Amino acid sequence: MSEATTIARPTTATLAEACRLLRSGTLVAFPTETVYGLGADATSDAAVARIFAAKERPRFNPLIVHFATVADAEAEVELDARARMLAEAFWPGPLTLVLKRRPSSRLSLLVSAGLDTVAIRAPDHTVAQALIRAAGVPIAAPSANRFGHVSPTTAAHVADSLGGRVELILDGGPCRCGIESTILDLSGAEATVLRPGAVTAEALANVLGVTLGSARANDPRLPPPAPGMLRRHYAPGRPLRLNASAALPGEALIGFGPEAPADCLNLSRPSDLEEAAANLFATLRALDRPEVAAIAVMPIPEQGLGRAINDRLTRAAATDEPVPPDPDPFDHDRGPALPCALPDGLE
Ligand code: AMP
Ligand code: MG
Repeated sequence: MSEATTIARPTTATLAEACRLLRSGTLVAFPTETVYGLGADATSDAAVARIFAAKERPRFNPLIVHFATVADAEAEVELDARARMLAEAFWPGPLTLVLKRRPSSRLSLLVSAGLDTVAIRAPDHTVAQALIRAAGVPIAAPSANRFGHVSPTTAAHVADSLGGRVELILDGGPCRCGIESTILDLSGAEATVLRPGAVTAEALANVLGVTLGSARANDPRLPPPAPGMLRRHYAPGRPLRLNASAALPGEALIGFGPEAPADCLNLSRPSDLEEAAANLFATLRALDRPEVAAIAVMPIPEQGLGRAINDRLTRAAATDEPVPPDPDPFDHDRGPALPCALPDGLE
């Protein structure tokens, strides 16, 4: 694991260095339009294992693999007609598709965490695209934060969470969407939203011309249990109170809309859900301070992007910690077996 972390603006020289690091199996954090990703060569077991170690992420949680083009993705997964239509409509962009893995795929089995599917997307960000193209390999990249915490939307957030655990952070400024991609499972007959995100269910249904299924917490189609589907996730260190109309003593208020008090942090004064999504994680981080006893959040409409915002807020507000113990990959009596062993020296 790295000792020191460098934060660098993306230039020809720093992108070349990022590629060299990725090709040597090292982690590089980079901006996407959703949140910052913690990237590794998706074809290398050792590199992918380092992601799990740096994030302290349970190893049965699969990762999203990032491609520059649909044609590159085609070599690793089976794209059906629905996947092609959606990729045509939304890629590059914040839509992740869960598809059947090809038997010939070069991707590390660790990215699938024992499933026969892979979650893939093509990010809509010039730095992410340049990096993936230059690296010449697909890049596995979950959000660049420690497991269960608030996702990073700036390079400084990544350094706060993973400083010393990642060699290089490419600083592309704040992320445009600020909320994670929508995950759509296309591995079965029914297209099912596994995680609401930056592309709305309405927009997906419009392109597909069908109503979408929606996964529940213990849906057998979900990996057991996908991090984004955990009841508690995306969580700041303070308790969160949702649907608040005003702050109680000791609370800091997150507002939404023109009626919110002038002195609170407002996700969007004009009630613009895109602006609110972009501000959400940075606002939660800004109020995650010792002098704040709790964070109260005004109601967000449950429509369009509001669904993804409310999904993250509900998980951030959950008080229990249902993360099951991480199964020991070498102990075959405990938990599911991992597809392959982690390299020596990790975890
Ligand atoms: P993050 O790690 O923050 O980028 O979140 C990635 C999300 O994608 C997690 O909720 C994963 O469980 C989910 N995911 C990745 N691969 C798969 C897969 N093959 N099937 C279902 N969900 C997946
Ligand atoms: Mg995450």
